[in-house]
Amino acid sequence: MDYSEFIKQFAQHPSYRSPRGNELNARSWQTEAPLRMLLNNLDSEVAENPAELIVYGGTGQAARDPESVRRIIRTLLTLEETRSLLIQSGKPVGIIRSHAQAPRVLIANSNLVPAWADWENFNRLRKKGLIMFGQMTAGSWIYIGTQGILQGTYETFAACGEKYFNGNTHGKLLVSGGLGGMGGAQPLAATMAGYTFLGVDVDRERIRKRLQTGYIDRMTESYEEAMKLINHYREKRETRSVGLVGNIVDVLDMLRKDNIIPDVLTDQTSAHDPLNGYIPQGLTLQQAADLRKSSPTEYRSLALKSMARQIGIMLEMRKRGSVVFDYGNNLREFARQGGEKDAFSYRGFVPEFIRPLFCQGKGPFRWVALSGNPEDIRITDQALMEAFPQNKNLLKWLESAEVKVRYQGLPARICWLGMDEREKAGIIFNDLVKLGKVGAPIVIGRDHLDCGSVASPNRETEAMADGSDAISDWPLLNLMANTCGGATWVSFHHGGGVGIGYSQHAGMVVVADGTQRAAACLKRVLYNDPALGIYRHADAGYREAVDNIDFFNLNY
Ligand code: NAD
Repeated sequence: MDYSEFIKQFAQHPSYRSPRGNELNARSWQTEAPLRMLLNNLDSEVAENPAELIVYGGTGQAARDPESVRRIIRTLLTLEETRSLLIQSGKPVGIIRSHAQAPRVLIANSNLVPAWADWENFNRLRKKGLIMFGQMTAGSWIYIGTQGILQGTYETFAACGEKYFNGNTHGKLLVSGGLGGMGGAQPLAATMAGYTFLGVDVDRERIRKRLQTGYIDRMTESYEEAMKLINHYREKRETRSVGLVGNIVDVLDMLRKDNIIPDVLTDQTSAHDPLNGYIPQGLTLQQAADLRKSSPTEYRSLALKSMARQIGIMLEMRKRGSVVFDYGNNLREFARQGGEKDAFSYRGFVPEFIRPLFCQGKGPFRWVALSGNPEDIRITDQALMEAFPQNKNLLKWLESAEVKVRYQGLPARICWLGMDEREKAGIIFNDLVKLGKVGAPIVIGRDHLDCGSVASPNRETEAMADGSDAISDWPLLNLMANTCGGATWVSFHHGGGVGIGYSQHAGMVVVADGTQRAAACLKRVLYNDPALGIYRHADAGYREAVDNIDFFNLNY
């Protein structure tokens, strides 16, 4: 199909949709895959705000502007297998000579020299049209909708239940703020893990999206009605979720006054961005939008104070019995800047619950059926259940995901897999494509939140055993390893999850197209990527990771 016809069918801003089926538009699946995944990230079923190319996570974009999207499409439609496309903060900036097993796209998003790495400089450069916030999987074209964080959130809430309630979560109340692209996974994850859930979002449209996609059970604008529902569910020990429209600080205040102390309390508002993400207490959405424009300094100051108040109440609730943990949005840092000096007195979810998984090279492995046919995901789910019959948690997860997860955009699946498992899964998928058991190639990727791909001292690398939290050599090594290994596209970003200045991280996507070439790349990439996680944690002194060096024969 020629370029103009392609744009007409799939990319008329702001209506984007990935092609489906097994007919190529580009020259090979190695370029068709990034093309489809970019468009899938922008599909209105998937993205939070396609008109602004925003996919999730506050202002996390897939491309700089509509013109950049068109130019990326034009290039990918004709790119040869001896060339690679360069993307600088969502804009195509060049084509280099490479080779058939090299990545077809090389992406760098939101990076700033360390002494300039703050929101002020970033926003100044962004206003000039020079840079874009790529979050983690928005600018690296491997976002799969709210499911992308679902299993991680489920693992986190379940681990919290094991640690603090001996696994008995029925009738326990979990409260959190933020029901956006990622935060919207919380209600379903919480109910899958056995809790009753109350989520608060200031934007009713966000909650409505969760209702439409089956992630939340009920929505209300009334605090009284929300509490009536919650009390009923708790009494009956029903695992149900309620979304309440409101500011999280107001609602926490009301809960405190009514002496309702949540069993578990966390937050997933877009706190990583005090100007373009978090909504300060006391402002409607419209007032917030106006103040952002008229006085960004005042807005930021109100946001910081509001976050400080929010954590003040969370700490009081903790004293009165709530289990409180940070859920990866840097709320503590900005609350500290807003005047709450004890903001860091509770820990983040990685040191609390997730690090032992990182020591096994485990992390959020995901895949997407380029055919667009949900049956392909059912076939891959089945293949993994047969390949890993001893992994009971995985079986339970895949069985319940098949029933409970509605797809957004191209059908996709996520599950946490580790060393050996990822490589095995990749080869199985490649064979399914080769044998024609699935309708088209399978795209395999992961979040940048992974065992060896990120430096983020307030999140993934918080409280490392050797104090190496802020050292970002590791994500750079990860990027280089995946580039040498022959991922189909690779990315290096700054600021994902926690905001500009607070993290650096690498992404990779590799396509199983059924060829020998793909098998060779998959074997390298899906070995190197989790191995980096084990090396990183062994080097920091974690016993389990050191043992895994021997177990997986990673000695050097
Ligand atoms: P999003 O921008 O899609 O949604 C944020 C939501 O918070 C919006 O719906 C907004 O209306 C709401 N909100 C903002 N301020 C509020 C307030 N004061 N009270 C109530 N609601 C408020 O972002 P997202 O993709 O859902 O991500 C949420 C946060 O989590 C971000 O900071 C992101 O960086 C971080 N994140 C964490 C993880 C993780 O693994 N823990 C993964 C990805 C992203």
